[in-house]
Amino acid sequence: MHDVVNNLLLIENLIKAKNKSKKFPEIIAVSKTFPISIIHPLIVHGHVHFGENKVQETIEKWTDVKSKFNKIKLHMIGRLQTNKVKYAVQLFDYIHSLDSLKLAKKISEEQERNKKKLKIFIQLNIGAEEQKSGINIEYLQEFYKTCTEDLNLDIIGLMCLPPKNLDTSTYFSKMKNISNNINLKELSMGMSSDYLNAIDYDATFLRIGSKIFGNRD
Ligand SMILES: *Cc1c(COP(=O)(O)O)cnc(C)c1O
Repeated sequence: MHDVVNNLLLIENLIKAKNKSKKFPEIIAVSKTFPISIIHPLIVHGHVHFGENKVQETIEKWTDVKSKFNKIKLHMIGRLQTNKVKYAVQLFDYIHSLDSLKLAKKISEEQERNKKKLKIFIQLNIGAEEQKSGINIEYLQEFYKTCTEDLNLDIIGLMCLPPKNLDTSTYFSKMKNISNNINLKELSMGMSSDYLNAIDYDATFLRIGSKIFGNRD
């Protein structure tokens, strides 16, 4: 068995040991920067969810693979430029990085054109950091309403990238509360360094890269 599969199984076992009573979260194997040759054992193993952060890279890596392994679900987890939405809607199944009204409108348009609806997370700027993208908490209710009622988007949950080098529990806890208040089901949070922590706060989609594939250059 290839390393990446062992790494995934190890992660699944750690989650199982910790998470006995809860629903098992989905693991998104974040394969950005890695070639398909490295990812392939996971695909053959039957893993479903993969995350990428660049549209062009995803087109090149995944177009053929996805047509062969049609149960694969692709997740866009990086910042999405409006001029790439056309391609993103065609190839991805989920978008985790909806962070502006402009982007929401563009996705809505392209979805109409493609007769396809992606599952979408609103990215929250949970640490209110100036340099980070994401919707500010005060604006969330209104933004959510516009996305669902006016733009016909299938918003399934919230996503965050909490501030670095701080105890992320505070932010995960905030995310969980906000998510409960707005009555959304899915929570995309937790990465290689803090995924076990994220499941304590009911994360349903973990985005794990380096713990599966090794360090990126
Ligand atoms: C790269 C990336 C991850 C995965 O990070 P690791 O620390 O390698 O697990 C998760 N979420 C986003 C948004 C990323 O860009």
